[in-house]
Amino acid sequence: MNELMQNLLKLQSLEFSPTQDDSTAALIAELRDKIPPQIVGHYDRLRVRGKKGLAAVQNQVCTGCHMRLPLAVIMTLKHDQDIQLCDSCGRYLYLAPEAPAAPITETPAAKPARKSARRKKVAKP
Ligand SMILES: [Zn+2]
Repeated sequence: MNELMQNLLKLQSLEFSPTQDDSTAALIAELRDKIPPQIVGHYDRLRVRGKKGLAAVQNQVCTGCHMRLPLAVIMTLKHDQDIQLCDSCGRYLYLAPEAPAAPITETPAAKPARKSARRKKVAKP
């Protein structure tokens, strides 16, 4: 992820954080200073509507609106070539870290332990 997106992501997590103090405000001001005004502007337009300005991409899907993204967009993000906006919700896109945060372990649904009370047919005399 390029520095710009990292800054945006940091900004968003600070501004959406429920606990803000003076140092948060200073950090926010500092980040806003680093990010180009037109990008902060777009981010703010989303924010005032209560939306997050950034959405992670997971499995080629925008987590903001759950629309599938074109492969070209994913490739651009992968190569860090440019910032990308989601076509449907207008959020800035970033690739979610691919490290499996929650390992998907397919635990088979616990079957009710059915006693294998299969009686053998005992041939009684
Ligand atoms: Zn979207």
